[in-house]
Amino acid sequence: MMENTKCYCLKVPLHQVKYALSSFENFLRDDLKFSKENGFIFLPLKSVPADLKGFELIERSFNKRNRKVSYREIADVPDEVRKNLPRSFDVVGDIGILKLEESLLKFKKEIGEAMLKANNALRVVCIDRGIKKDFRLRDLEVIAGENRTVTTHREYGVDLRLDLKEVFFSPRLAQEHWLSTRFVKENSTVLDMFAGCGPFSILIGKQCKPAKIYAVDINPKAIKWLKENILKNKLEEVVEPIQGDVGRISKRLREKGIRMDNIVMNLPFGARSFFKDALSLCRNGGLILYYEILDKKASTKRMEDLKREGLELGKKIEVLSRREVKSYSAKEINISLIVKVRD
Ligand code: SAM
Repeated sequence: MMENTKCYCLKVPLHQVKYALSSFENFLRDDLKFSKENGFIFLPLKSVPADLKGFELIERSFNKRNRKVSYREIADVPDEVRKNLPRSFDVVGDIGILKLEESLLKFKKEIGEAMLKANNALRVVCIDRGIKKDFRLRDLEVIAGENRTVTTHREYGVDLRLDLKEVFFSPRLAQEHWLSTRFVKENSTVLDMFAGCGPFSILIGKQCKPAKIYAVDINPKAIKWLKENILKNKLEEVVEPIQGDVGRISKRLREKGIRMDNIVMNLPFGARSFFKDALSLCRNGGLILYYEILDKKASTKRMEDLKREGLELGKKIEVLSRREVKSYSAKEINISLIVKVRD
């Protein structure tokens, strides 16, 4: 039930709302919802300003705002460890993923239950013990809710089905997935070198009308989910899933005479060793979207390294953009480069 609270308010004509909000910012109550009637907005006040700037002061009832309760407030943990509860967590589909420090592990059940209570959309809560090397998989443990790690994640209108224990996926890369669609033109041929369950390939396939996307991953389970997502998003004619090491697959594609207009290289700890493969597959004027996690001081040098590698293959490389995706550690950053390749 919505609670009603009576208080003084300002009666403001709609066309003056912006002016009133900026003039009385410090006088307004943030626990009550503004109300609207007959061309006026009513702004509830916590104290009455000396100068009303010509607005009418009246008394009126207001509905309470629904304040979202954080799991940190309701978790049944001792007060001395409450401050250690993480302020943020990842959400993939209906699964919440938390990193817990040592002092919190013995309260994992209580923390998981609080997460479910405070976040209606969650059905599962997991703790994340870090990324395992080979296929970049998360080491997960379900601590509350349904005992599963399979979910459907929605990103920019695209549904991706995946098992977090079987394939890498990070909701924090959503913007990167989206940005990749900005540089792919209609009828292009695209290579997604490290495709995972397909966030780049599926979004590009849906948004850019490419002629063909070759989506490669070494992890057979990633390919299983990629295939499911290709079907789910009706991209069977466009996206070709290929399981295997991208070094070997690149050689095979090259031998068949296939060349790419765009190449996505999203393996931040390993893309470097496949850059030459990408160069040799890239058409004159093609673009490579390259990610790497490296020492903060090394990023300028890395651009020089890549240019040199280009020259060794008789290609000219122009770095069109360099962006910091995020800080990875105190010393390392994840950078994204858009590289234009010329013969
Ligand atoms: N692009 C996906 C995304 O945004 O979710 C997945 C990125 S994940 C960081 C890197 C992927 O590269 C993993 O799925 C891993 O299995 C795959 N991988 C690692 N080494 C590979 C290789 N040599 N050839 C092909 N794929 C590889």
